[in-house]
Amino acid sequence: MNPELDQYREECRAWLNENARHCLLQDGMTLDEEIALARKWQALKADAGYAAITLPCEYGGAGKSELHKIVFSEEEMQHRVPRQYFIISLSNALPTFLHYGQSNELKCELGPKAVRGEQLWCQMFSEPGAGSDLAAVRTKAEKDGDDWIINGQKLWTSWAQIADWGVILTRTDPTVPKHKGLSYFFVNMKSPGIEVRTLKRFTGDQDLNEVFFNDVRIPDSQRLGEVNGGFMVAIHTLMMERYAVSSVNAPLDEIIELAKNTKVGGEPAIHDSAIRETIADTFIEQQGLRNIHRRAVQAISDGGSPGPEGAIRKLLMGESLLRAGKLAMDLLGAEGLRAGSYNRFAKSWLNAPVLRIAGGTDEVLKNTVAERILGLPQEMRPDKGKAFNELP
Ligand SMILES: Cc1cc2nc3c(=O)[nH]c(=O)nc-3n(C[C@H](O)[C@H](O)[C@H](O)COP(=O)(O)OP(=O)(O)OC[C@H]3O[C@@H](n4cnc5c(N)ncnc54)[C@H](O)[C@@H]3O)c2cc1C
Repeated sequence: MNPELDQYREECRAWLNENARHCLLQDGMTLDEEIALARKWQALKADAGYAAITLPCEYGGAGKSELHKIVFSEEEMQHRVPRQYFIISLSNALPTFLHYGQSNELKCELGPKAVRGEQLWCQMFSEPGAGSDLAAVRTKAEKDGDDWIINGQKLWTSWAQIADWGVILTRTDPTVPKHKGLSYFFVNMKSPGIEVRTLKRFTGDQDLNEVFFNDVRIPDSQRLGEVNGGFMVAIHTLMMERYAVSSVNAPLDEIIELAKNTKVGGEPAIHDSAIRETIADTFIEQQGLRNIHRRAVQAISDGGSPGPEGAIRKLLMGESLLRAGKLAMDLLGAEGLRAGSYNRFAKSWLNAPVLRIAGGTDEVLKNTVAERILGLPQEMRPDKGKAFNELP
């Protein structure tokens, strides 16, 4: 990248080699154990300035660039530490609160607590009828004196069950077109009237929740952005992390080992040409994905933006993960499917579809590729310009 970032990478690597081993995830850990470990890891990183690399120092961050954050993430991914718990909290929700929050005192109080992992923020955008079409949210906030009263339901909220604070997108004016009648707030998740119900995924993971709002009263000082200007704030939240470095590549080295140690027709599976072909295809895909990643990092380094090829990367990553996971499961045979046998391959295969939904579904990404890369015409928008309460 450049000498300063190379030096930073060396520092990160040395620090991680020294510290990550104290916080490694172990197979069979309970959710509570993992969360406790994640908080410990977060506090360790905070002490060393790695917990919220791009956030301003006064709020507990390290005040460094996006590239520094990418470098640290790339190095952190090499260790099996708990990474997922604080991503939405620190990359989406907290930065939005810090950007739009009205009280600097509160920002200085809550920022460092979230950075250290003492508190966690969740993001309440999606609803039963609003996901890809975010502007369709129905949870409403109605003005009552200086307060707002929130009623409705959010869905798929990651970590709401352990969240202390959350950001929420609500409808404040249904008489105007859908993007123009939304407002954005932050709420204390322990407020009276909030009920969180955890959903259990088929992998056994319990990260997702339904969140119900029954006459939840919050002061206007908890509004982030203009009344009815919430859609732009939501876009800001989603763009906050310009480029997410994620470790969702299939563990090819382990799959090769598995193929060497598994017999097919009395021969090591690695001798089977079809299996070798799948391994080679996965390897080629992973190199392609790596190059797209490098190109995005180079664009940021040159002062630009990663561009829509991020959509291609995410799309291919999901497909590649699924194919490699399927090969590993085939090699494992019945053992791979045994209920409760939580080998990493089974888990990554079962989790692959999630990657194809969260953060933009495959179909929506394909629309992005079609419109922004291939220059095809935009989708038909029959609701354009119509008041939200007049839509069928
Ligand atoms: C693991 C996980 C964590 C999540 N965490 C959060 C969270 O913390 N906070 C939060 O607010 N949300 C969260 N979500 C929700 C996520 O943002 C939505 O699931 C996602 O935006 C898709 O919305 P949806 O589920 O309503 O599906 P829908 O938008 O209803 O889509 C249903 C199907 O229709 C297709 N489709 C939709 N629109 C189009 C179109 N225009 N063209 C072609 N096809 C289309 C989709 O591709 C999909 O196949 C999470 C989801 C997952 C899986």
